[in-house]
Amino acid sequence: MALWFRESASPAHRLEWKIRQELYSGQSPFQSIQVLDTEQFGPSLVLDGIMQTTTGDEFIYHEMLAYVPLLAHPHPRRVLIIGGGDGGLAREVLKVPGVEEVVLVEIDPVVVEVARRFLPQHTVALDDPRLTLIHADGAAYLTDQKTEPFDVILVDSTDPEGDGPGTVLYTPAFHQALYEGLADDGLYVQQTGAAFYNPEVVEQVSHSVVTRFPLCRVYWCTVPTYPGALFTFTSGSKRYDIQKPSTPLTWPTRWYTPQIHQLAFALPPYLSQRLPET
Ligand code: SAM
Repeated sequence: MALWFRESASPAHRLEWKIRQELYSGQSPFQSIQVLDTEQFGPSLVLDGIMQTTTGDEFIYHEMLAYVPLLAHPHPRRVLIIGGGDGGLAREVLKVPGVEEVVLVEIDPVVVEVARRFLPQHTVALDDPRLTLIHADGAAYLTDQKTEPFDVILVDSTDPEGDGPGTVLYTPAFHQALYEGLADDGLYVQQTGAAFYNPEVVEQVSHSVVTRFPLCRVYWCTVPTYPGALFTFTSGSKRYDIQKPSTPLTWPTRWYTPQIHQLAFALPPYLSQRLPET
């Protein structure tokens, strides 16, 4: 009999993936971790029962989280990634010309170990000499480590679910720490989930960001794996308009184009009416 992995998008809407086999299942101090070999998307990472990233469609999310901010910032030399232990985002960030240093702060070492074993397409850049991997809570790292400011900070975290490790990354205190951790012309982006089902996440984050950053913008992409059609990202910028690419794209991509970059900021009223005036 076929095996299916099920995820609830809402109490009344489910998504299902047909799976060939479970490649890994375990419990870390932070979350339950599974790697499922799905028939449609190949090896896929599931944390606390939520599909996080699949080999088949990860390029969409990772290109949009990396390239929109990094090509809007004219010289993104020093980049901080919070979360992102699967390595897919770091792989894209390290393709951008001028990026000299990437600090990746992932709370859960088991995610990195499991990704290295089962998601090699994601982890190809984790041993790049420009990358420093730190296992810590991203919020504590920003508050406690008074390091050189970052040009760009990218938050590739799990959703704010109960007492899960990602919840702290959606609080006003974290947005203040982000602001203080950025250079005077720095900018940041974080994933804010599926607006159709959880509009309160993008709403609360953007209201928190707009009180701290001169520029706050929301953009989106569509990822087959994520429910609700529009998957959102929220950004705060101290100087540069993240809607405008300023660096030319000189390498092949599968989703991102400069035109998609700009179109991604067009928001439907069901979403824009919940957001602050900017
Ligand atoms: N792309 C996925 C999505 O949006 O569904 C998320 C990728 S998943 C690799 C997110 C990672 O964030 C997980 O590995 C998790 O351990 C990490 N994470 C969650 N909370 C964190 C925190 N407070 N500090 C650092 N990493 C955190």
